[in-house]
Amino acid sequence: MSIQILTIEDDERIRTAVRFALEDEGWKVLEAETGEQALEEFNSMSPDVVLVDIGLPGVDGFEVCRSLRRVSDVPIIMVTARDDTHDVVAGLEAGADDYVTKPIAPKELSARIRALLRRVKPEDTGLAPRTIGDLEIVPDEGIVRKSGTEIHLTKTEFHLLCELSDQIGKVLSREHLLEEVWGYDYFGDGRLVDVHVRRLRTKVETDPAHPRHVVTVRGMGYKLQP
Ligand code: CA
Repeated sequence: MSIQILTIEDDERIRTAVRFALEDEGWKVLEAETGEQALEEFNSMSPDVVLVDIGLPGVDGFEVCRSLRRVSDVPIIMVTARDDTHDVVAGLEAGADDYVTKPIAPKELSARIRALLRRVKPEDTGLAPRTIGDLEIVPDEGIVRKSGTEIHLTKTEFHLLCELSDQIGKVLSREHLLEEVWGYDYFGDGRLVDVHVRRLRTKVETDPAHPRHVVTVRGMGYKLQP
């Protein structure tokens, strides 16, 4: 079955340009002009990746993202009008996995989507199950348990946790995590890592404000400890 990408964008010219770029990659493109339409049709479309513009009339991109996160862990890429810290961080906190800025560079967008699609498949990671304090991670099954209770992570959060757990106690830089989890090989944005670490902490830490497992090492990066 072919990969389906849902584009939520009110500007027809941009929507068309994105469609041509994605169809060029052999992907099927689904389109919605408004957030309302996207949310209404999401279940029947079941896309593999969602591309959502922040600036939509009515329900905006942040709200679309939050609504989708309540029902799905579909990979989401936010499209921002500019590389504005507030928009980028708010988008990631709303549940987006990654973002691109306008004007959209087709090659960059395709690379981001390919990286997300790679992360969707948790099977065959070849990684052994591991226990870190009260956390139990089963990479091949995409399962994390805290004190025996299964917790739900998005694919990106899961991969981030697996990457950290692969080298327990070792400090991993933002650049390293961007490369391993997001597939950024030549440029990247540390905010992606920081916001995802925050989101991960709200799920795996007993007290997210005083993390015990996912620890910040100032000026260096993050490490996982038992
Ligand atoms: Ca727009």
